[in-house]
Amino acid sequence: MLTIKIPNNFQPERQYIIDVIFGHFFAVDYTVQTAGCSVSEINTARGTLVLNDSFFAAAAGAYIKREYLPEVKYYRGNFIPEPDLPVLYGEPEIIVRDKYIDCRIDIFAAVFFMLARWEECLPAPKDIYGRFPATKSVAWQNDFLRRPVVAEWLELLWNLLQRIAPELRRKENKFQLYMTHDVDKLEKWPETSLPKELLRAVLGRAEQNAWSVLLSFWQAKKDITKDPFYTFPLLKDSLLKYNQVKAVFYFIAGGHTQYERFYDIQSEKIKNLLLFLENERVEFGLHPSYVTFDNAALLSDELACLEQVIGKKIRESRQHYLRFAAPATWRHLAQCGIEIDSSGMYADKEGFRFGTGAVFPVFDVEQRKILPLLERPLLYMDQRDYECGGYQGTAQNGAEIFEIIRYCRKYKTDCTVLFHNNVLESAEYKKTYFEVLKCAE
Ligand SMILES: [Zn+2]
Repeated sequence: MLTIKIPNNFQPERQYIIDVIFGHFFAVDYTVQTAGCSVSEINTARGTLVLNDSFFAAAAGAYIKREYLPEVKYYRGNFIPEPDLPVLYGEPEIIVRDKYIDCRIDIFAAVFFMLARWEECLPAPKDIYGRFPATKSVAWQNDFLRRPVVAEWLELLWNLLQRIAPELRRKENKFQLYMTHDVDKLEKWPETSLPKELLRAVLGRAEQNAWSVLLSFWQAKKDITKDPFYTFPLLKDSLLKYNQVKAVFYFIAGGHTQYERFYDIQSEKIKNLLLFLENERVEFGLHPSYVTFDNAALLSDELACLEQVIGKKIRESRQHYLRFAAPATWRHLAQCGIEIDSSGMYADKEGFRFGTGAVFPVFDVEQRKILPLLERPLLYMDQRDYECGGYQGTAQNGAEIFEIIRYCRKYKTDCTVLFHNNVLESAEYKKTYFEVLKCAE
């Protein structure tokens, strides 16, 4: 049993981060005591671990202020799983005296900073789709967006705890690959202009020649399963070959902008597709339409519509265009009864927006409370001349995705990746998809 003493300000935030670390991630027994101390202190029968309290000690009242953004330093020394470790708050120093450890790194604040995303609530220019860009984040600006820093900090904390409590055991987490698919478009034809596609083929800008384009058009007219965007038979077949993989398909069930309405969720085509995909390892989720990220009423309507079509409760969702704003979108999703959101990747860069691939409970920094919602961060998405907007990653056939998978495997976290059914028209993306699937085992 661990006894954790914490200073007596910012109680909701401190309680949240302790519950997430010791309850959710480690699953160890602990009690929390509030004291007039100036540091956080973890006591066991055999020793004491002191953690610097830098961020919350300095922040007075409202902490969502630019002046509280971290100045990143690096720790190089014992107890860490990589050659160095970003330090957001506190000092890069750990002093060990027998069974007394003084960790000058404010680990609690750093984990809180990454998971709660309060920096995204600061006034800052958004991209043309109203999203917080990766390039404005502390993680990108300090070159650790592609590192699972929360997982690294947890390893440091665990290694320090083992020094004063070698008998302590934590929950055995495991690597879990989630292959997810946003169904933005069901069919290439007639959504794509035939004359334009023929011209692209003639100019050598398409993968197919003009005759193949024409053939595809006529075949799809007679049979939807021949449509180039209708890659579902291939997806289902491939997914079911790998027992360890979990799959999610997100469907759009409303919306009124130019960015959606490419199929009718109530149509026979969708009902047939749902029946076809139904499997115990396949989950259906909502892909809330473009304006829902700050419109709870519309979100609720779309959820009700999809649940009516599918005939059961929908637990998961991912925002269309990854239009997500912390904490408002989380709050709306929780209000609607969604249990897991998976919108959390910057739309312009792949990587660890929350410092981890693992699913975690979310915190509302405006209302200062934990929400009944989990975030399972998206880490990578395909992209190819695609109108999802502004993606500037280099993940076309990518080394990046395999680096991300390697980290998730090393730190035993979930690894959620996105491939659109229509992008898999491309042979190049199919190849990447199959290579990623092989990593599930
Ligand atoms: Zn979408």
